[in-house]
Amino acid sequence: MDADAGAMVTAPHGLTLVLDQVSKRYHRGQEAVPALEDVSLALLPGALTLILGPSGGGKSTLLQLLGGMDRPSSGRIWANGTEITALAPDQLSAWRRDTVGFVFQSFHLLPHHDAAENAALPLLLRGQRRALRRQRAVDLLDRVGLGDRARHRPSQLSGGQAQRVAISRALANDPPLILADEPTGNLDTDSGRAILDQLQRLAHEDGRTVVLVSHNPEFIALADRVIHLRDGRIQDDSRPAPVTVPAGAASPFLPRRRGPRPAALVREAAASVRRRAWRSALTALGVAIGVAAMVLLISIGQGLEHRVVNATLQQASLNSLIVSPSPSSGAFSLTHVGSTSTKIHPITEATLRRFLHLPGVVGAYGTAQFLGQLTRGGRSLSLLVQGLPPKALWHRAQMPKLAVGHLPTPGHAQAVLDRASVDALFGLKPGQERRALGKTFTVRLSSELGGAAGSSVTGIRAAAEKPVTLTLVGVSQSAFTSELQVTAGRITGWLRANRARNAPLTYGGAIVLAARVPLVKGLAAKIRHEGFGVTTTASIIQSIQSAFGVLETGLGVLGGIALVQSGLMIGVVMGMAVLERRREIGVWRAVGARRRDIFLLFLVEALAIGVIGGAAGDLVAVGFGNLGALLFHVAGLFYMPPILLLLGLAFGGTMAVLAGLIPASQGARLSPVEALRAE
Ligand code: ADP
Repeated sequence: MDADAGAMVTAPHGLTLVLDQVSKRYHRGQEAVPALEDVSLALLPGALTLILGPSGGGKSTLLQLLGGMDRPSSGRIWANGTEITALAPDQLSAWRRDTVGFVFQSFHLLPHHDAAENAALPLLLRGQRRALRRQRAVDLLDRVGLGDRARHRPSQLSGGQAQRVAISRALANDPPLILADEPTGNLDTDSGRAILDQLQRLAHEDGRTVVLVSHNPEFIALADRVIHLRDGRIQDDSRPAPVTVPAGAASPFLPRRRGPRPAALVREAAASVRRRAWRSALTALGVAIGVAAMVLLISIGQGLEHRVVNATLQQASLNSLIVSPSPSSGAFSLTHVGSTSTKIHPITEATLRRFLHLPGVVGAYGTAQFLGQLTRGGRSLSLLVQGLPPKALWHRAQMPKLAVGHLPTPGHAQAVLDRASVDALFGLKPGQERRALGKTFTVRLSSELGGAAGSSVTGIRAAAEKPVTLTLVGVSQSAFTSELQVTAGRITGWLRANRARNAPLTYGGAIVLAARVPLVKGLAAKIRHEGFGVTTTASIIQSIQSAFGVLETGLGVLGGIALVQSGLMIGVVMGMAVLERRREIGVWRAVGARRRDIFLLFLVEALAIGVIGGAAGDLVAVGFGNLGALLFHVAGLFYMPPILLLLGLAFGGTMAVLAGLIPASQGARLSPVEALRAE
């Protein structure tokens, strides 16, 4: 059992309040309005003190000061030796929570909480468990004859019943001090009488210090002591007690440190979100749109990156080095067209032999690329023409994946084409490529890329221009590149025909095959050192990834902007909520909520909206991703790993919390008195 519950049934120790020359001035613009002037007073336990006086005399002000709802402009107040006027704001709230029970003229119940929840509010603030809170609240309601009304909302109760709920709430933490401000002002005579009887018992039977503010002289007979206040001064006191200001240092106040349980905060936030369902939903929608935009934008960047990287991995083998005659050639050699300023190192048969002798090299062959004009019947096609590796290296090199057919046999006029080119050249529909196998077409070269002279595109000599008839024997699966692939021998033949008279045979580039992948890096460095350009699959993927990194960052920033916008929306909505709920904040503060409790209440609500919005945004993103994949027939167009969705959720929550910070702290900083007075 909670240690606290045991303490509650014992009679509270009496509380002696001492006011020493207390004044309170309110400020209306430049003008100072005195509400209390130089009040010195001692209030003793076990007595019901009635404070009487005309309206505007300072009665409510005095009560607020006694209960630590407000601070005097000057003077000091002690409660059993603790100087409450010296407490820090949250300490004062905790003192109020543990020591004071307020009863107000207009009840000040929370309209959306039932009677038991209202009565249990101070227990919630002390971090008591729900079951215990409920049990204690029902006990308290039972005592005032409302045991059967525990589940009723304040609007379903009569004034007298509502005030009895308020008294139950005032007694929840079993405080030694009860302060009632016109508690019968809104009640009929009988209900009012019942409330007064109750207050009297709290003083006489429990030994509490009870202070009642009223302007009703009928109560004089019931009170143990009557103090008349007029114009902020004590005009008359029926039983003045000696005012002894505690000597020496004030005894420290050590409140229960614990505030509301996290579960209670979450439940309050959830109830508040539900109560304002439409507004919460709209706010969450704002977050959802932001999160969905961010997740979708990042995922499409990632999806594209994965597709390109995978395609690259399929095209190139990890153990091959792509060597070019000039060191400036990077991963995308075509982007370097025209940059011929760096020194050229021609790749000849001798160069290839030297590469072959490097330790760890298991193969090296020259490559060249031509642009060719393919013709079949009336159709023609301009295409990149490449050579396959020499047959001896087929088992080591990356070979094209064939959809149908086989690779060209060395020494034969055979070729492999990609699907799209087969369809275009033979006039076939996708999937019919098999029909083209065994059929012939002619090729006429139009230029050589990165040719012998080292320039990027060179012409074709008459000797190489002669059209050649080739038989299609295989169709490659490649989805990204369109090219004609012929035997290594045919490429060498073309290069021979295209070179200048007596010039040595030079290749456009070379592929060097390492025995094992870990050797690639060292070999690349060695060959680069000789002045060649070297590209490896790893470096290609690296540059693809860094290019996509920039793209994804940009997309992420765009998504982030959408999210910030929705964050601003939360901020505005929460700001409105704080304004709207000032009265409610006042009630929480009166029963002892500390500033940080209010702050947390609002922040948890913002977090809840953010998380709901984030989850909805994730759902929308996943839905859109799947829809997109369906519509465009591409799987993996949006790449959404769980971590990205989690990130979306976290961003939604964080954004909401950030946006809620200012409104929450505004709510927390409201003065309890001002907040209670709000309409
Ligand atoms: P009572 O409860 O006896 O009617 P109050 O304590 O409410 O009197 O008010 C005492 C005086 O202080 C009145 O003149 C009132 O107008 C003024 N007063 C009370 N609260 C405020 C406030 N928040 N701002 C300015 N003046 C105030």
